[in-house]
Amino acid sequence: MHVAPTTWPEMMGENRKLELEARKLKIGRLRLIRRLPSCARYRLVEWRRNDAFSRSFHRRRKVNIILIGAQGSGKGTQAEMLSKSLGIRHVASGDLFRKAISEGTALGMQAKTYIDRGHLVPDALTNAMVLNRLEEPDCKAGVLLDGFPRNIAQAEALDNDLQGTDRTIDGAIYLEVPRDVLLQRLSGRYICRANQHVYNINTRPPKVAGVCDIDGSELYQRSDDQGRAVQERLDTFFHETIRLLDYYKQYHKLVAVNGNQSIEQVHEDLMKAARSLAGE
Ligand SMILES: [Zn+2]
Repeated sequence: MHVAPTTWPEMMGENRKLELEARKLKIGRLRLIRRLPSCARYRLVEWRRNDAFSRSFHRRRKVNIILIGAQGSGKGTQAEMLSKSLGIRHVASGDLFRKAISEGTALGMQAKTYIDRGHLVPDALTNAMVLNRLEEPDCKAGVLLDGFPRNIAQAEALDNDLQGTDRTIDGAIYLEVPRDVLLQRLSGRYICRANQHVYNINTRPPKVAGVCDIDGSELYQRSDDQGRAVQERLDTFFHETIRLLDYYKQYHKLVAVNGNQSIEQVHEDLMKAARSLAGE
């Protein structure tokens, strides 16, 4: 019996196998695909479309996408996978701050004074840092923005600053996860003292309670992963950041993806969303 492959590498292997088999039987690949059970056929055709899309993506033009998702939505992991599949640069605002601070740049030093006091970095400073980053050569093929813009003011500033350049924002993808699921994911997060390995008592528990599987060190919960702090972080997202959805919606530049599925399925849906934003 034919088992439908699920992961990206599996699909890649499956596709290769089909090509070899078709060559051996001396029939077209499409004719062979038609003989597959319908679910396997659907996944394979969908995969091939995504794969062809990622191959042609960076050759065609700059594609710039914003990924919006709350803490715990899996945004970081998905942004990493999506940018790799699309061949565009993943630009996470958090990483930019950390890098600028460790390198001691002027903007970094300014940002540090806010972060040290536990304040949010002002929009103007964040905008300047992201826009500088976009001018670097590795962002030429396009970018996947993660953690920026965080509010409408930043989104407007971004659009204004890009006017007159050859870059535009193609659209935003909202990685949608219900609040109660986010709460469960975040409040179950534990980290090991030695190497910051991440566990989740609900979804990915350690073999022995309170002990890291990998290095045996103690697991603890970060203060901002505890009840009240988690609620506050989610409040900021659901009150402020979520208004970005309306901002991009008014320009018909918003696609929502269900983030409450397996990692592979979310990735596949994100690829589909990127395709539609790029006008495929
Ligand atoms: Zn560990």
